[in-house]
Amino acid sequence: MLYLVEHFYSIQGEGRYTGRPSLFFRFGGCNMRCEGFGCRETAPDGAAVTGCDTVYAVDRAHFGTRWLCIEHRDELITILKSYDLPEGADIVMTGGEPLIYADNAVFVAFVEYLVASGRRVTFETNGAMPVNFERFPVYRQCIFALSVKLANSGEPFARRVRPAAFVPIAAHAKESFFKFTIDRDSIGENMEHEIDGITAYAPQLEVFCMPMGGSRADIEANTEAVVGFCKARGYTYSDRLHIRIWDKNKGV
Ligand code: SF4
Repeated sequence: MLYLVEHFYSIQGEGRYTGRPSLFFRFGGCNMRCEGFGCRETAPDGAAVTGCDTVYAVDRAHFGTRWLCIEHRDELITILKSYDLPEGADIVMTGGEPLIYADNAVFVAFVEYLVASGRRVTFETNGAMPVNFERFPVYRQCIFALSVKLANSGEPFARRVRPAAFVPIAAHAKESFFKFTIDRDSIGENMEHEIDGITAYAPQLEVFCMPMGGSRADIEANTEAVVGFCKARGYTYSDRLHIRIWDKNKGV
């Protein structure tokens, strides 16, 4: 059993495959909370909840009544087929943190189906959940966008930086890259030092940096600083195209 929050066909808004037509499956639950990102949502019971820009896929206590309970792989396949996707469309598994289900039989069976169907599958992950490549070799054929969280997430270091989880992913997946969320106020020596420390574990991976924020105004406020940071450090700037285009709207 697992929780599905939403699914939608759009374009990838972040990272190496920005612009690619992609079907998103957003799974419910996360091993973090990231209140430092400061996004606010109103829960169905009227409570104001603070977290990341997908707090509605993180906080089961407040938003779980809207989540769909999935008990069999075929339920996900039925959703997939309902989109009648063109051959080249990608599949993006996101959340919350999709890899909290990395050992889940329904989840693994769906990933196996997708890969066997010739789909390119990307996991948007915080890089803190281990993946068992021995037991589930299908993950070797997937792509992992490793959004390891920085101090600006508000999460304690030991919870957010877990080399024991992301180093094996970098070693065994067919492709992976780092993707950091940056705000202008955090740019400075400490952030550089922190990113150096994380990337040193997998120096072969490309590093993308993108502006923090859950609204167009937020990311616009951080964009120039992040561009300057990328220029100074030799990283690749990643926009957040879906927010740039659709602002706070969900499911696009
Ligand atoms: S790890 Fe990602 S999904 Fe989880 S709370 Fe942080 S930003 Fe949100």
